[in-house]
Amino acid sequence: MDSIPLEDRSSLVLNIQYRNLLGLVMKLTRSAQNVLDYLVSILPSVRPGRPETFKTYGEVHRALGLPGIPRELVNQGLGTLADAVSEAGLPGITGLVVTQEELVPGKGYFSLYGRQPDDFQWWEDEIKKVIAFDWSPYSLTAKPATSLKPSSKTPVASDGKKLERVETTTYRILRETLLARRVKELHKYECQICGETIELVDGRRYAEAHHIQPLGSPHNGPDELGNIICVCPNHHAMLDYFSIPLKYNEIITHADHEINDEYISYHNKEHQSRKS
Ligand SMILES: [Zn+2]
Repeated sequence: MDSIPLEDRSSLVLNIQYRNLLGLVMKLTRSAQNVLDYLVSILPSVRPGRPETFKTYGEVHRALGLPGIPRELVNQGLGTLADAVSEAGLPGITGLVVTQEELVPGKGYFSLYGRQPDDFQWWEDEIKKVIAFDWSPYSLTAKPATSLKPSSKTPVASDGKKLERVETTTYRILRETLLARRVKELHKYECQICGETIELVDGRRYAEAHHIQPLGSPHNGPDELGNIICVCPNHHAMLDYFSIPLKYNEIITHADHEINDEYISYHNKEHQSRKS
């Protein structure tokens, strides 16, 4: 790799990460994403080789408010997550979920990675990788601030600063794109204000994603699902220019996408201030 120029090298790294990222995000069901978000949230208190700092099936099951018994967690997102993570070549984060009796992961965890169920050294090393890894691009509920760190897996070139900057920017754009896409897919590319969609010649649909409290100066809105609305191009322009107010009760909603009314208030204040 040393002979590859920096720019090429960073784009190579990004290509690999981009593919992994897309692979993971696209395959995760809502329940698997919830398990991932939860496991990412406990990482600060996890110590490799000390499974008492991990979470039992029961603890995860309870924390996520899932119905049924803890054993069902495997079919309530954990299994899908384990498959997606291993397929994307990411560190085995599902090894943080352990049985209450023995404090070890399910046998499926080891077999997924072609390991024997007593290969605890591998497990410990894997958890070290999990902790060192930057999960923010994969955990869609993570705050934007933490998503700006480049992956710790990233090779550091002699001009490491530059590579880091390239990656940071790309991650931010990539994240924005993924969030926008997720919102549009949830709403089947139908405008959340008028219900219209645009049918393309090849059968696909077209819509746009708008940040209700816009990103960047002077608005400095956050890049999160609750601040994004799926709209047709007409309504997008109207929102961009704050030419119409947003009425919370008239917006078409989806159970997996809750718009935060704080951002709606922000929009409406901007709309008011432009009137008269
Ligand atoms: Zn519309």
